[in-house]
Amino acid sequence: MNADIRIDAERLWSSLMDMAKIGATLKGGVKRLTLTDLDRQGRDRFVGWCKEAGLVVSVDGVGNIFARRAGRNNALPPVVSGSHLDTQPSGGRFDGCFGVMAALEVARTLHDRGIQTEAPFEVAMWTNEEGTRFLPVMGGSGAFAGAHTVEEILAGRDLDGVSFGDALRAIGYAGAAPVGGRKLGAYFEAHIEQGPLLENTGNTIGVVTGALGQRWFEVMVRGMDAHAGPTPMHLRRDALFGASFLIQEVNRLAKVTEHSRGTVGMILNRPNSRNVVPGETVFSVDFRDTDVSGLDRMEQGLRAAAAGIAREQGLNIDIRQTIFFPPCHFDQSCVAAVRAGAERLGFRHMDIVSGAGHDAVHIAGVAPTAMIFVPCEGGISHNEIENAKPDDLAAGCNVLLQAVLAKAG
Ligand SMILES: [Zn+2]
Repeated sequence: MNADIRIDAERLWSSLMDMAKIGATLKGGVKRLTLTDLDRQGRDRFVGWCKEAGLVVSVDGVGNIFARRAGRNNALPPVVSGSHLDTQPSGGRFDGCFGVMAALEVARTLHDRGIQTEAPFEVAMWTNEEGTRFLPVMGGSGAFAGAHTVEEILAGRDLDGVSFGDALRAIGYAGAAPVGGRKLGAYFEAHIEQGPLLENTGNTIGVVTGALGQRWFEVMVRGMDAHAGPTPMHLRRDALFGASFLIQEVNRLAKVTEHSRGTVGMILNRPNSRNVVPGETVFSVDFRDTDVSGLDRMEQGLRAAAAGIAREQGLNIDIRQTIFFPPCHFDQSCVAAVRAGAERLGFRHMDIVSGAGHDAVHIAGVAPTAMIFVPCEGGISHNEIENAKPDDLAAGCNVLLQAVLAKAG
């Protein structure tokens, strides 16, 4: 009979819209960078709502917040659901926030109806998912999962030289709870898709089976600065010109299979002067694929192309790996719980692989995990115009409730 209960769609929507006011931008987006005063305001609001829903709140040493609803058997590991409240500098209203508000709405629904699950249920808010102000990205969940040490996280510095640890203390969220090291019965994260597949196929629910692996590089191309006038073309060692071939190659390599992605998103060119042949160009490469073999293929292709271009153009090219996340396969029984929830509620659904990284990818390393995607308009996110439909968000939250009930008993 618990399977017949539904979340309060209006309360979910109004909480999302309330939270979006904290750090609201003129273009209708949100700028709520991690560990800023706006982040504190968002956290305070969230914690206030948690307490109203009868949840017991704890904060760990990297600022992750857990809001717990006791179960009938509190010796059981909790079923946990959540996401993040920090945003990109020109972020939207739903990325991250939907996952936290959806989990809170599940807790509120259980609270309203006096439903006690067998295992405890916790709403989680992970610190610094976006990685805009401090590296590493997904730092809070990464520390919880043991992928980063607490010291490493606290020592991170922003561009002004402020440390993560100082910023965390300044907003009053340096908690006493130990970071990670405890068992979770299951972890579910609801999120907007951030891609166009659900919308294009007319599906309401994405049953997320895993996430693409990621391998990032920093490529340093060194040539020689030279005057743009007197230096003949055949005597140049133009770093930017050499880099342009590699940028083409990154895109070409990624177009070979459907599940590959290749992006050059950051470039620094020195001396970046109109009449100087550039002597040094640094750029980022972000490769993603469902399989490690795909990542390997693109890396080998990039290295081979770099060797050829270095030789041809008298350049020095250094390729250094900066990030590696192996492809992630979510827990089959958690994925099945999401699929069953969507089926029971009669929502059109499809299996989907996440192209983006999420806190769930770290948590999947230490707990049975799955994710639920809902459509977002035009597949656009990390953008102030990011949008999602109230009905789709409610559907995702109802599927989350079903999955939580299935796992928490
Ligand atoms: Zn997110």
